[in-house]
Amino acid sequence: MSQTCQRCAASNAEAARFCRQCGAALPELRVQSLTRITMLLARWRKLSRSVTRQELRSLLGEPRRIESDSPASRDPVETWVYEYESADTPAQRVCGRVTVSSSGSHVVAWCEPDWDRLREGPA
Ligand SMILES: [Zn+2]
Repeated sequence: MSQTCQRCAASNAEAARFCRQCGAALPELRVQSLTRITMLLARWRKLSRSVTRQELRSLLGEPRRIESDSPASRDPVETWVYEYESADTPAQRVCGRVTVSSSGSHVVAWCEPDWDRLREGPA
């Protein structure tokens, strides 16, 4: 399991906090600045139901985790969970979820992270 840098697309170890190539904070981890939140938000806004699993991965990077639906389900889906935390208040975590069809391999629904909570730092 590895994670992909959103800035330079280098592959990094799962536990890495920063990109070994360009030094950028890796996606699941801290959101360092408003600029970065804006950049993330722009990527989330590119989601649509025609986005494939592969495109999703290159758009948002590796998810924090993937939750599978019950195997008994007729149209199985996976939920890709993206977690971001504020650099100022690391306990302040927000989650975004993207539901991907296991059979069709494309996005069926998504729920953006609560960007406002991420922006709220100590005054
Ligand atoms: Zn990088």
